[in-house]
Parts: sequence; C-alpha cells; structure tokens
Amino acid sequence: MSQIWKLVGPDGKPYASAVPGTLGGHQRNRIYGRLDCPAALRAIARGGYVTHRVFFSTEEDARAAGYRPCAVCLPGAYTTWKTQQDGISETRPVHDPRRQVSTRRSYPQNHG
Ligand SMILES: [Zn+2]
Repeated sequence: MSQIWKLVGPDGKPYASAVPGTLGGHQRNRIYGRLDCPAALRAIARGGYVTHRVFFSTEEDARAAGYRPCAVCLPGAYTTWKTQQDGISETRPVHDPRRQVSTRRSYPQNHG
C-alpha cells in the first residue's frame, strides 16, 4: 500500500506526502481547521467545497502558508489570531466593550 497524499506546505505550494494531513483548509477563504469540523462537514455535504479543499500536515504549515484558524473548531487559535489582527497584545485583554465593538470585523467564520 503506497497512497500518496497531496498536502500544502508552508510555502503555500502543494507537495506529495506519504502520510495524510491532520488539518483541512479552504483554498479560497484561506482558513484551516480540523478534518472533523462540523462547519466544514456541513459545507462538504452541501457540495462545492471539495474542489477548494486543501490539507496540511501541521498547524505551523497552515499558518506559514497564510491560512488562519477556523472559529468553529479552533476557537482558541482563532481568538489568538484575531487578537493579533486587531493589533492588540494577547497578554493585555481588552475590557472596554466599546473597543471590542469598534475593532470587530466581518471575517468568514469557518472553512466551510
Ligand atoms: Zn472548522
């Protein structure tokens, strides 16, 4: 048995791997998440998602390739990512609700 898996490397380019990926991603939305993410599975069930689906060996690869975490299946990583996007230090949580509203942006929430 010698199945070859097509994964996306840290440079964003596909490569052949002898082992399957551990994370799935959406090529258009640039979002990655777990293979069993409920949002991704729903999108796959609807169809139209599979053609844009990519796989990563590690979270590091996905981040290096420019993908961001899914808010549904990776909420912790998503929060960290979003905090970084807003230019707020992770170590200094924002307690002012007005600030949180003003920095809220409309990103796609998941890779589905
Ligand atoms: Zn997800």
